[in-house]
Amino acid sequence: MNPIAIGIHGGCGTLARDLQSTQDWAETEAALEASLRAAWTILKAGGSALDAVEAAVVVMEDSPHFNAGHGAALTENAEHELDASIMDGATLGAGAICAVRRIRNPIKAARAVMENSDCVLIVGDPADAFARRQGLAMVENGYFTTARRQQALASLKARKERGTLAAASEAERHGTVGAVALDAKGNLAAATSTGGFNNKPAGRVGDSPIIGAGTYARNGACAVSCTGQGEIFIRHAVAHDLWARMHYAAETLHRASDALIHDVMKPYKIGAGLVAVDAKGRIAAPYNTLGMARGWIGPDGVLHLGTHEEMKSLVLAS
Ligand code: ASP
Repeated sequence: MNPIAIGIHGGCGTLARDLQSTQDWAETEAALEASLRAAWTILKAGGSALDAVEAAVVVMEDSPHFNAGHGAALTENAEHELDASIMDGATLGAGAICAVRRIRNPIKAARAVMENSDCVLIVGDPADAFARRQGLAMVENGYFTTARRQQALASLKARKERGTLAAASEAERHGTVGAVALDAKGNLAAATSTGGFNNKPAGRVGDSPIIGAGTYARNGACAVSCTGQGEIFIRHAVAHDLWARMHYAAETLHRASDALIHDVMKPYKIGAGLVAVDAKGRIAAPYNTLGMARGWIGPDGVLHLGTHEEMKSLVLAS
């Protein structure tokens, strides 16, 4: 069988270990595992990389433990505006939505934009209306709210008042989920979904729904999903730059990924990370924060996952 692989991240805005209960960490890890298994089942059965990344992201959107879908960040107005994108490395087809408020699984809407419209990116209320017409599940905006994000919003507002915003943790500020996959036909795909930054101005859009900034996939080279302060990722077109480094400069996936996260992002002093897969199924998942929820299953069929430095491995039954 040709190599298959799935890689996921749950954002580089990870909490310090002692700031969540053991049960919360266990639930976070269980969601990462469920996300990987959902994608792996599809890939093992000969399914497409696109289906695999969508399935992986849906699991994390539905979990309250990640900043995407249920559990997403709040804007300065205590509302949710969600962004998502998906890209097909076989065709360079891409779809994205941003600043949506009612779509239960924004990644499904991004896919619908790619497959059922002539657009790449649809914004705001019209994107919600498009999703509704596509028959996707719609929810009240409050469905996305969790106590953790409300606390983060209150804390960030208080910090802003006191002038101590710089001391806010990465976890208070942001997060994202993403997935990349290689299927048995050699096709690559990437998907990203986020609530963006806590306390973000209404209407602010980061890199996650911007093709080439937060998401990119191109057969023969790589698929990548990014996490970190979107403004900087947009300026550096990080996701596309990963592909360009591999394509034009013949850098390996690991070298190019490390250079982007550890060198290019360094002067900005921002939290940053990504997950990427190459055409052979090798996975890179660098980050520069104290942790990044992440996991992958490579061609060897071993499942790896972790939220901080240490990783757990699980050999899957074949
Ligand atoms: N990239 C996301 C944004 O800027 C946030 C994150 O990944 O943490 O909206």
